Amino acid sequence: MALVRKIIPQSTVDGPGNRTAIFLQGCNIRCAYCHNPETQAMHDAEAQEMSVVEVLAEIRKGIPFIRGITVSGGECMLQPDFLTALFQAVKELARETNHPLTCLIDSNGTIPFEHFPELMEDCDGVMLDVKAWDAEVYQHLTQAKDNMVVKQNLAWLLQHDLLTEVRIVCLPERVDVENILRHIAETFDFIGKKAPVRLLRFRPHGVLGELANHPMPSDEQMAQYADLARSLHLAFSIK
Ligand code: SF4
Repeated sequence: MALVRKIIPQSTVDGPGNRTAIFLQGCNIRCAYCHNPETQAMHDAEAQEMSVVEVLAEIRKGIPFIRGITVSGGECMLQPDFLTALFQAVKELARETNHPLTCLIDSNGTIPFEHFPELMEDCDGVMLDVKAWDAEVYQHLTQAKDNMVVKQNLAWLLQHDLLTEVRIVCLPERVDVENILRHIAETFDFIGKKAPVRLLRFRPHGVLGELANHPMPSDEQMAQYADLARSLHLAFSIK
């Protein structure tokens, strides 16, 4: 069973192609710019306990129009047993229906993927949030102790060809985006593999607290990030 916040039957913004997006309840960090703060609490009256069979029934409705599923949150890696069982069931459904389905994870990267080999066997990729490179910046932004595991996950996923995308929320005064881009490029060079980078423009929609009225980065600022990403030979997109 898992605590499910919501299921979007067909989403085009949660990974490549049309996908069923499943949002699990509960997060282990508190990002200042979280635009889904209602998913942070580990328990919430609006979240629903669902079994793998029940979630699979929702996914089945999307065939043949979906390319797969993306499980997000909150932080979906807080419920790894459910994820493992769900991905196994989705792969079985793909065989049964003869319709290929990929299983992606959207994660803050604070839980080591290498500890879950059975899960990673059926996982086709991870969209990893790299929220900051400097541990102190990360701590201020998320209230987490540090971001060591995120960096380890970045390298591990890359080595295992499981890094679908690196995501960076661009919030100029709080996040040193240039620093993140440089370190990501260094990691790619060191390992000798690459993954696409997505630069997400901070948007205050849904954000609570000190950043609720914070302005979005300007077009000029986003263009500067793009110039740097280009000069570092990163494949990137801006959203
Ligand atoms: S990791 Fe995602 S869900 Fe968790 S607090 Fe940060 S933005 Fe919100």
